[in-house]
Amino acid sequence: MSQTIEHITCLIIGSGPAGYTAAIYAARADLKPVLYTGLTPGGQLTETTEVDNFPGYPKGITGPILMEDLKAQAERFGTQVRFGMITKADLKATPKRLWVDETIEITADTVIISTGASAKWLGLENENRLRLNAGGVSACAVCDGFFFKGQDVAIVGAGDTAAEEATYLSKLCKKVYMIVRRNEMRASKAMQHRVKNTANIEILWNSETHDVLGKEAVEGVVVKNSGSGELRTLNVTGFFVAIGHKPNTDIFKDQLDMDELGYLQIQPGSTRTNIAGVFAVGDCSDKTYRQAVTAAGTGCMGALDAERYLASAGVH
Ligand code: NDP
Repeated sequence: MSQTIEHITCLIIGSGPAGYTAAIYAARADLKPVLYTGLTPGGQLTETTEVDNFPGYPKGITGPILMEDLKAQAERFGTQVRFGMITKADLKATPKRLWVDETIEITADTVIISTGASAKWLGLENENRLRLNAGGVSACAVCDGFFFKGQDVAIVGAGDTAAEEATYLSKLCKKVYMIVRRNEMRASKAMQHRVKNTANIEILWNSETHDVLGKEAVEGVVVKNSGSGELRTLNVTGFFVAIGHKPNTDIFKDQLDMDELGYLQIQPGSTRTNIAGVFAVGDCSDKTYRQAVTAAGTGCMGALDAERYLASAGVH
């Protein structure tokens, strides 16, 4: 018995601010978008508490509510939001072929990829517990630094992100401890210079995070010197982890152009990938800004690019 394969004009993969914004625009343009949420409906923002920097919310809003609102707005214009994971894709085929949860095959004229990126964590038990309880463990200084105004915090990592975030935190916090696992930093020379010349940043070289202390909220961080084995407790109330992100793009390997870290490459000033009709928006193609509002902005661009592509291909 042959199975009827569902055909979709505009398929959106991922349910963060980029995906839902793409859906709002695509639905209003009558592209009848179908959005697959992935395993974390709402994306990274559902793991944060207060979001104070998304325009339009003068009193702030929680990440989960913001994502519920974006979903409702996408659905209001007819987006079909479905729980499911796109696990395989043949984007070079016409129409594009994709598989949901390994089994269900669908085809699509356009695909907007908004699969996001996941912050890497150290993997310590207390780091994980306090992170999930909103107890002062964060992977985004720009999002959460404000809550630690005038306090002492620690940040782990030594790349450009860690250096940039340490500098950002130094302007808000009394003291910033930067925990660096080697005796040098990976960050660019200019960023290193800035960190080293900021009076309230103390760099702890050759140091690893041994434990994060605190029941309900961070009360300290224990750091171990990898040379001497000496343990030192930092009296901090915030712990930031900036050891890199992993874009969720593995299933597109060998089809879409990506950089060495897996970020999808797009043509400048657009969201177009190397395959016509496939667009990349949000954090899966942005390692520099990584904000909800920039993701939403590129989501809008992706839908407009898809609409123009469909019009020029005579499909819509
Ligand atoms: P990177 O991969 O460049 O750096 C990760 C850092 O975390 C490294 O210093 C690494 O240490 C450290 N690290 C990794 N795992 C652990 C661990 N388990 N314990 C302790 N430390 C650990 O990630 P970034 O997010 O900093 O940057 C990603 C990319 O984005 C880079 O190409 C960067 O240049 C770019 N970027 C550019 C910006 C800009 O131009 N303004 C801003 C931010 C990022 P080690 O060095 O020992 O491996």
